[in-house]
Amino acid sequence: MDFNFSVEQRLIREAAEKFAEKTIAPVHEKDEAEGRFRREIVQEMGRLGFWGAIIPEAYEGTGVGYLSAVLITEAISRVSLAYAGHFMSQTAGTGWVILNYGTEAQKQTFLPALVRADALGCFGATEPDTGSDLLSMQMTAREETEGFVLNGTKTWVTNAPEADVGLIFAVTDEADRPKGISCFIVGLKDNPRIKITPIEKLGQRCTKVGEINFSEARVPPEALVGEKGQGYKILREMLNTTRLFAAARGLGLQKACLENSIAYAKARVQFGRPVGAFQLIQEQIVEMHADYQASQLLVYKAAAQKDEGAEDGLSVSTAKLVSCEAAVRAADSAMKIYGAYGYAMEYPIQRFLRDSRALVITEGSSNIQKLIIGKKLLKL
Ligand SMILES: Cc1cc2nc3c(=O)[nH]c(=O)nc-3n(C[C@H](O)[C@H](O)[C@H](O)COP(=O)(O)OP(=O)(O)OC[C@H]3O[C@@H](n4cnc5c(N)ncnc54)[C@H](O)[C@@H]3O)c2cc1C
Repeated sequence: MDFNFSVEQRLIREAAEKFAEKTIAPVHEKDEAEGRFRREIVQEMGRLGFWGAIIPEAYEGTGVGYLSAVLITEAISRVSLAYAGHFMSQTAGTGWVILNYGTEAQKQTFLPALVRADALGCFGATEPDTGSDLLSMQMTAREETEGFVLNGTKTWVTNAPEADVGLIFAVTDEADRPKGISCFIVGLKDNPRIKITPIEKLGQRCTKVGEINFSEARVPPEALVGEKGQGYKILREMLNTTRLFAAARGLGLQKACLENSIAYAKARVQFGRPVGAFQLIQEQIVEMHADYQASQLLVYKAAAQKDEGAEDGLSVSTAKLVSCEAAVRAADSAMKIYGAYGYAMEYPIQRFLRDSRALVITEGSSNIQKLIIGKKLLKL
C-alpha cells in the first residue's frame, strides 16, 4: 500500500531504505550479537539529514516535517530497531525540547550539533523507583548562586553510555508538584561527579542503555531549559513526540516480520508443499498484513496531524498502542512460521522478538497509553 506522499517524501523514504540496506544491514546481525554500537552510523544518518527532519533549516535541520521523519524511522526500523531509536535521543527528545523551550543561545549551541550527530544526545526521566509515575521522581536540582547542583540517579537512559549531552529532569521544589520539576541540558562527558553504568538488556543491543548517577554535579544557570518549574510540562509534551517515533518503529518491525514470513512460507516445503500453501499459515500472514495496514494509517495520520499542529495526544497514543502491540504480535507470528529456524540465532527472527518487547514498555507502556486514551475519550 502507498499513500499520497509528495515526491520529496518518497525520495526521503527511498534514501532511508537504501541507507539501511547498504550501511546497516551488512553489519547488523553480528553487531547485535556482540552488542557493538557504531557511532559512525549515527553520524552518517546525521550527514544524510535524517536527524534534522523536524528541526528548521535555521539550525541546520531540513524541516521536512513529522510525516517524512516517520517514513525515515519506519525504513530504518525495518532493518534496525536499535539505530532507529536514536530518533528519540537525537531529535524527538533532546532536539525537540531545545527547539521548543530552549533559549536562542541553547538552540545555536545544541541543535546543529545534534542534527549533524557531532554531539550524541539522550534524555533521563526514569529513575530506579520512578517509571510510569514520573511525577514521583526523586532526583533533585538545588539552586545556588552560580547555578544548580544535581543529585540522584536516572536509569534506563537510551544512549547514556555514548551521549555527550543529556536532558535531565529533576525536582527544584519538593513542596510543589508538578510545578517543582525542572529540565536541564547537561554535558555528560568527563565529569567526575557524573557516573554512567551500562545496563545489559534483552534486545536492540547495538544501542547502549545506562544508568546516570549525579553526585553534587554542578551545572551553570544556562543549563536550565525553559523556566524553572516547567519541567513536567516539557516532559509530557516531549513524550508525546518521542511516542510517535516509537509507533513508527513498530511499523518498521512489522514490515520486516511480514516480509520475512512471506518469503519463508513460500520457500519452506513440508508435506510436499510450501508451508504458505496451508491456510493456517496464511491466516497468520493475513493478520500480520491487516495489523500493519491499520498501524500505517494510524501512524501517518498522527504524524500528519503533528505537521498541521492539530494533534492533541489521542492520535499519537492510539498509534503507539496499536503499532507497538502489533509489532510484538508480528514478531511472535514470524517465530511460529519459521518453526525451529525462528529459534535459531542464525536467523533474525529471534532478534525481532527480543527487540519488539521494548516497544510496549518505552515512551509509556501500553497500559499507560490506554489510560491516556481513556482520559481523552471520557474527557476526564
Ligand atoms: C529499552 C528501553 C529504553 C528506555 N529508554 C529510556 C530513556 O531514554 N529515557 C528514560 O527516561 N526512560 C527510558 N526507559 C524507561 C521507560 O520509559 C520505562 O521503563 C517505562 O516508562 C515504564 O516504567 P517501568 O519500567 O518502571 O515500569 P512501571 O512503571 O514500574 O510499571 C510496571 C508495570 O505496571 C504497569 N503500570 C504502571 N502504572 C500503571 C497504571 N497506573 N495502570 C495500569 N498499569 C500500570 C506498567 O504498564 C507495567 O506493566 C527505557 C526503557 C527500556 C526498556
